[in-house]
Amino acid sequence: MAISLEDVFRASKFPPSNEGRRFVTNAYELASEAHRGQKRKSGEDYIEHSLGVAKILAEIGMESRTIAAGLLHDVPEDTAVSLDDIRKKFGNEVATLVDGVTKLGKIRLRGSREEYYLENLRKMFLAMAEDIRVVIVKLADRLHNMRTLDSLPPDKQLRIARETMEIFAPIANRLGIGEVKGELEDLAFKYLDPEAHEKTKDIVKEYMRESDSYLDRAVTAIRDNLAKEGVRILHIEGRAKRLYRLYQKLKRHDMDIKRVYDLVAIRIIVPNVADCYEAFGATHKRYRPMVGRIKDYISLPKPNNYQSLHTTVFGPEGRIIEIQIRTRKMHDEAELGIAAHWAYAERERSAGWRKLFFRQKETTPPKELAWVKQLQEWQREVGHDNREFLEGIKIDFFKNHIFAFTPKGDIIELPEEATPVDFAYAIHSEIGNTIVGAKADAKIVPLDYHIKNGEVIEIRTDKDRKLPNRDWLRFVKTSIAKSHIQKQLRREGWL
Ligand code: MN
Repeated sequence: MAISLEDVFRASKFPPSNEGRRFVTNAYELASEAHRGQKRKSGEDYIEHSLGVAKILAEIGMESRTIAAGLLHDVPEDTAVSLDDIRKKFGNEVATLVDGVTKLGKIRLRGSREEYYLENLRKMFLAMAEDIRVVIVKLADRLHNMRTLDSLPPDKQLRIARETMEIFAPIANRLGIGEVKGELEDLAFKYLDPEAHEKTKDIVKEYMRESDSYLDRAVTAIRDNLAKEGVRILHIEGRAKRLYRLYQKLKRHDMDIKRVYDLVAIRIIVPNVADCYEAFGATHKRYRPMVGRIKDYISLPKPNNYQSLHTTVFGPEGRIIEIQIRTRKMHDEAELGIAAHWAYAERERSAGWRKLFFRQKETTPPKELAWVKQLQEWQREVGHDNREFLEGIKIDFFKNHIFAFTPKGDIIELPEEATPVDFAYAIHSEIGNTIVGAKADAKIVPLDYHIKNGEVIEIRTDKDRKLPNRDWLRFVKTSIAKSHIQKQLRREGWL
């Protein structure tokens, strides 16, 4: 179904000013003129994509210049209208955003798989450190492409879905844009593992059939209890966990949904921080909390700045349920992440509040998200050198991947808990087959050692070694190592 410009305005998290409306309307007119006659693979007019991206940006609270950049993001690349034309009409800021998005889009598969990822990562980071809104527009672009992925051939679907899961979702997560991250993951999940996706959906459907009415009763009971205790609340609702995240949990619990305590959670929005703790106390007074599941992310925010109080209680009717308590601002920041900064900034500005940081360029967010600043520092210090850059990032960004180095400085990407044997096979099967020893950061380590991120791994080989050891199969983590070992053993008649 077609999206109109009016839909974009209606979807805006915060209603645009008249001036903002005019600005965005002008961008729309230029974009639809420039893309006139162009179609997407799905058969839709190209401008549908531009509008789709703009709508996502409006929903997550971005201001008019970023929404305009969303509308124009494919114009210089795909039409006769140039970046200079955009600069003349919409100013330097919008032109810089569009240019950044175009550059990010130029990254293409070249060389080995890890080179490709590193290049992607690096460009993402560089763009991010310059102006994070470039990355936000790129995320919106990817999200809209994922929503319309059905019209592409299967091999492309897979490649794009994998890239989404491994690069774009973690970046959305790091920027704290939970809404976008969750949807990206769920969409990628559907293409990467259609069977598991279906199965998880079925499990949820079955479970929700009996849980829906419970959730209603629980919300009422908890609300009544808070009212009785005199705690002010703005909003209370039940919510279901995202599919992909749920699947991750189910896998850890033998696919037994009864053991997932936060499949549904009750979310309580209160006016201010003091009210959070009051609601917390009042809830625990009535419902006994589970040991080890009380989390105060207000005093100790998560690395991506997420703030909330979490607790799991023996709730109404004795059933276990998770409760999350936060202020409106914390809530918006949890859903919109870094985007919320511009949203709040724009509102305060239009209300006549000028804050100090507005005198500076508005491209970096204020005090929060210290890691962005850290990133900029690193970048200044190390320039464009991949190796040092990645060492600097540390791995909290890429939770399930580690990067190790050869003595020459080549980067080998591995899954967590990968061993020197995995490392050896990642370089070359012959090195894997003949490995006899390994050093990590110059210290001798066993072959089943778990490599840590950033370590330099030296492999000792012995040409006389004819066969890989079948015991290695018990600890290797990569499928490439596994298949080489099996192939080699089979060839020699050992398997
Ligand atoms: Mn696009």
